[in-house]
Amino acid sequence: MRAVVFEGTGKLAVTNLPDPTPGEKDVVIEVAAVGMCGTDIHVYDGEFEGGVFPIIPGHEISGKVVAVGSAVKNLQVGDLVAVNPTLTCEDCEFCLTGRSNLCRNWQGMGVVANDGASAEFLRAPARNCHKLQPGTDLNHAALIEPLACAVRGFDVLPREMGSHYLIYGAGTMGLLMAQLARRAGAVSISVVDTNAKRLEAARAVGIEHTFTSADEASRKNWEVVIDCTGVVAAIEDGLPRVKPGGTFQNFGVAPVEARAKYSPFRIYRDEVSVVGTMATVSCFGRAVDLFEAGAIDPTPMISHFYSLDDYAAAMDMFRAGTGRKLQIRPGAAQSGTLLSL
Ligand SMILES: [Zn+2]
Ligand SMILES: [Zn+2]
Repeated sequence: MRAVVFEGTGKLAVTNLPDPTPGEKDVVIEVAAVGMCGTDIHVYDGEFEGGVFPIIPGHEISGKVVAVGSAVKNLQVGDLVAVNPTLTCEDCEFCLTGRSNLCRNWQGMGVVANDGASAEFLRAPARNCHKLQPGTDLNHAALIEPLACAVRGFDVLPREMGSHYLIYGAGTMGLLMAQLARRAGAVSISVVDTNAKRLEAARAVGIEHTFTSADEASRKNWEVVIDCTGVVAAIEDGLPRVKPGGTFQNFGVAPVEARAKYSPFRIYRDEVSVVGTMATVSCFGRAVDLFEAGAIDPTPMISHFYSLDDYAAAMDMFRAGTGRKLQIRPGAAQSGTLLSL
């Protein structure tokens, strides 16, 4: 099969590898689409968990089952699936207490120690594969993995009816959080992004209030403020805008060494909660259900797709930040533009 391989820090190859065969509890998937995300870039740059190479990148995965292991009962050849890329040890204190997203031996397909899906085929444990309705648009279904991360974000928020939400960042995660906020009881949703072009995407998925600075809003505070940027300036801008009794969420991944200023007095006096959210735990199936119920509008979110051979061009576009969600489509002979931005 054709595959993209990260051979070492900053070393990319598009090469031929043997086709995978399933172990007894595995399936082999013909990959339809793989979303590119910041984690892939961190893996390539050797910044993720120390960098383990070689690895095939890609963890936002959809595809069709083409082979099943002898002990697989829940899937058949021809089934369409979204793949939960998380692999946890099931033995550590966190796995044993229902917090497997905090697993001390956490691994992920395409992220740590296991191959991902930037290839024609992927071998995956059957239990990580969530069956989709026949006829599902598999290109759209590659958004289910980031959607599951967004569902986890809401699992640790208050989800109180009639809340006003302020979200920093109109990238994939900001757009997903903004769309889910409606279902979590938001009465108004505001999205801030310093890049006015990206706010067009927020409006395209139905967000009513969009600003290049939160100072432009008539509202002065919000029950829920979510940072989906990981940028310290955004975090320091957003935390003081939480209404007394409200919640701030660090969703975006900040650099390990980043430090942000906040007022401990204000957290005390106004009972502000600050919550983190990491990957997914017990929410992938709910993300599938939300996706199938139309909770998100994928079309304005996916701007470009790339063949395997054009993986490097996809990374360049990602780093430039001028597209929306970029996808690798291993079956595509050529790359293409879906939205002219
Ligand atoms: Zn990701
Ligand atoms: Zn564990």
